[in-house]
Amino acid sequence: MATRRDFLRVAGGLTAGTTLMGTMGTALAADAAAAAEGSGGAVTEHKLPELPYAYDALEPHIDAKTMELHHDKHHAAYVKGLNEAETALAKARAANDFAAIQALSKKAAFHGGGHALHSLFWKIMAPAGKGGGGEPAGELADRIKRDFGSFAAFKGQFSAAAAAVEGSGWALLTYRPEDDRLLVLQVENHQKLSPWNASPVLCLDVWEHAYYLKYQNKRADYVEAWWNVVNWAQVQKNTEVLQRPRV
Ligand code: MN
Repeated sequence: MATRRDFLRVAGGLTAGTTLMGTMGTALAADAAAAAEGSGGAVTEHKLPELPYAYDALEPHIDAKTMELHHDKHHAAYVKGLNEAETALAKARAANDFAAIQALSKKAAFHGGGHALHSLFWKIMAPAGKGGGGEPAGELADRIKRDFGSFAAFKGQFSAAAAAVEGSGWALLTYRPEDDRLLVLQVENHQKLSPWNASPVLCLDVWEHAYYLKYQNKRADYVEAWWNVVNWAQVQKNTEVLQRPRV
């Protein structure tokens, strides 16, 4: 298991990083300075974000036990896997030993995708009737109508995409800055089927761990219930931050 010392040992850029050094304890900084000759490059220590609400906040649509296991166990495992993969890649660079490059690259993508999508997933939900559910308003509503024809048409495509993901994966609403469009996409596992130039602003986890305790094999029922907890104001914010000035 990776320790904090491991992260610092591979962080070859830290000797010159006075700002970063200032954020660490004196003993850890000394460790980093002593280990900095590793020169595999700096590595981020990813952390599990807090849930923005209680485990039972999304009841009855998503049950408390599922939320607890999903956040505390599943998401935590993706954070751990991403840290392990990126640390191992830095060590490989320092040693100029890339024998495991394929496995490490896949591990970094899988766990990195899992960490990114779960971090987004918690934020785009809110308790039903208290920020969750209903329909988008304002600019987001206008965009959805422009790019999908209507909210109903968008919802139909998104629900169908979610229900039809082969095996474990996600449905996404993404924003593509290139032509200022919203697109619905599927994801297999946490990282496959991406066109790369569109970023998720809304995501729905359809891995069985996201719904099986309450819905068993009825994924479509879970998808239908999930619409009651979508935080549209957050989706609007997610879209805004990806927009860039048109030239
Ligand atoms: Mn999940």
